Amino acid sequence: MKVGVVRETFPGETRVALVPDIVAELAKRDFDVVIEAEAGGQAGYADEAYAAKGARVVATREEVFEAADILAQVRMAGANPEGCEADFALLREGQIVVGAAEPLDRPDLIERLARTKANAFGLELIPRTTRAQAMDILSSMATVAGYRAVLWAAERLPRFFPMFMTAAGTVAPAKVFIMGAGVAGLQAVATAKRLGAVVSAYDIRPAVKEEVQSLGGKFIEMELESGAGEGGYAKAMDEEFYRRQRELMTKVVAGSDVVITTAAVPGKKAPILVTEEMVAGMGAGSVIVDLAAEHGGNCALTKADETVVAHGVTILGPTNVPATLSVHASQMYSKNMFNFLVNMLSKDRERKNEFDLEQEDDILAGTWMTKAGAVVHPDIRRALGVEATSGPATETAKMAETPATQTPEKVQGVQN
Ligand code: NAD
Repeated sequence: MKVGVVRETFPGETRVALVPDIVAELAKRDFDVVIEAEAGGQAGYADEAYAAKGARVVATREEVFEAADILAQVRMAGANPEGCEADFALLREGQIVVGAAEPLDRPDLIERLARTKANAFGLELIPRTTRAQAMDILSSMATVAGYRAVLWAAERLPRFFPMFMTAAGTVAPAKVFIMGAGVAGLQAVATAKRLGAVVSAYDIRPAVKEEVQSLGGKFIEMELESGAGEGGYAKAMDEEFYRRQRELMTKVVAGSDVVITTAAVPGKKAPILVTEEMVAGMGAGSVIVDLAAEHGGNCALTKADETVVAHGVTILGPTNVPATLSVHASQMYSKNMFNFLVNMLSKDRERKNEFDLEQEDDILAGTWMTKAGAVVHPDIRRALGVEATSGPATETAKMAETPATQTPEKVQGVQN
């Protein structure tokens, strides 16, 4: 099997889908890699490094698409809205394409992708199971984001993070409050703690209390119902819940030098956890880093990719944070990708180096977005307003026959 890697075209994207060490790992499994020249350049991986590990470096994107059975990308479809059309024109029937695709934010682009008749797999859809953990790009990239957020906060804060007892007096440690203690939040707790801050955290899912404590953070208890949803994710709560939560958190926020917010609810706009009044209650010079900026932000004043200063508080709303740590973000992404590709191989010993997309596998079924011209993932179909099926295994022939050019309403009409 030939795996193709192209240069990422999303503005500001520095990551590459496969790093040279993984090319060597793939070679051991009988995969050849063909890579576009300069694809790893922005992550510090030179063409020579790929060639040394056995990859064939080619001059153009077209050559990669032409040669590859399977394309490994960091961003495709909804994760690269402006640039994806050019790739759709190069994809061919039956070709496999794997990457982040923001399928629930941009189901329209998945429908467009379906028309290429490629088999597309969206890595954000990986189920949250122990077996899938090694392929989970959301976790690995959240680790990067949580770490980076703390460094940005420390850089902007006009105070030290650690406590100092010096001849010039004693310096009190910074107080850092993390809202949302998922993967990014826990990494933020750990990083802020390493820098010497006094760290507290809160999450809607009470189960994370012990994890926060094990990292040396204090878990803030609030008299609120649990927001634990399916698959380890938080569920969406009603506005009354969020109002009460903001009320309870106002004092904690006011007493913090740094607030890092990471609260997300899959497929939904991020909840507002920090209002303008709460910002106004913080001390001058305080910093908020809003890691939910890509999905609307957890702070009412956040502007994506901008630095806002309001009431003396600096509010950062970075997006695509992993691209700022391109070497390790690429390395981690690449390992997730490798594990995903290996999982696509047949589990039959006789055919162990062959791809088997039809095998019974919850990870394949859970991430499979398009097949034979149709959108097959039930959640994406639902987002398109088309009735859900239970996944590729039971995909209806009807959907495959339905031209993907039709609007969701029309498709619905055909199905009824
Ligand atoms: P996420 O990025 O979806 O959300 C970040 C955090 O924000 C979550 O912890 C969520 O509970 C929290 N949150 C949502 N609304 C909130 C609110 N109103 N107030 C405060 N906090 C709020 O989550 P994530 O980081 O991807 O991880 C969620 C959970 O899933 C974690 O327990 C993680 O360990 C688990 N997980 C499991 C696997 C696996 O088993 N393969 C993989 C990844 C994550």
